[in-house]
Amino acid sequence: MTERTLVLVKPDGVARGLVGEVVSRIERKGLKLAALELRTVPQALAEEHYAEHKERAFFGDLLEFITSGPLVALAVEGPRAIAAFRQLAGGTDPVEKAIPGTIRGDFALETQYNLVHGSDSPESAERELKLWFPDL
Ligand code: ADP
Ligand code: MG
Repeated sequence: MTERTLVLVKPDGVARGLVGEVVSRIERKGLKLAALELRTVPQALAEEHYAEHKERAFFGDLLEFITSGPLVALAVEGPRAIAAFRQLAGGTDPVEKAIPGTIRGDFALETQYNLVHGSDSPESAERELKLWFPDL
């Protein structure tokens, strides 16, 4: 069963020149790109995207970070694409949770600056893809 998921290479990943690395891992896994775009994110979109975290202490910092520079948004598709990309990304904390061999485990040190986003469920994927790629 083919699914689509929203992937972001966050501003830290773009600034560090890791877009190709992330896209390469997605492609090597066997997932397909349905859309890919470099953009600078307006505050309103960032707030909508991360609405589930609005009560968290890190919410302000997270919005500032995600709007701080260009990011790359992708729609990625394939069998179990949502879980497959979460597997590639690794856990949220790049040291305590993400293991080596994952994007975060290989390239990140801090929880905020963990390089990538991937939708965490079919409901999130549907909501997020509508926000980022309404015409897809
Ligand atoms: P994930 O991106 O793995 O789905 P969450 O949805 O829990 O993780 O958090 C969204 C993003 O918020 C994380 O990817 C990370 O950039 C940031 N974040 C999460 N927890 C913290 C934290 N304790 N301190 C700073 N930033 C955080
Ligand atoms: Mg999340």
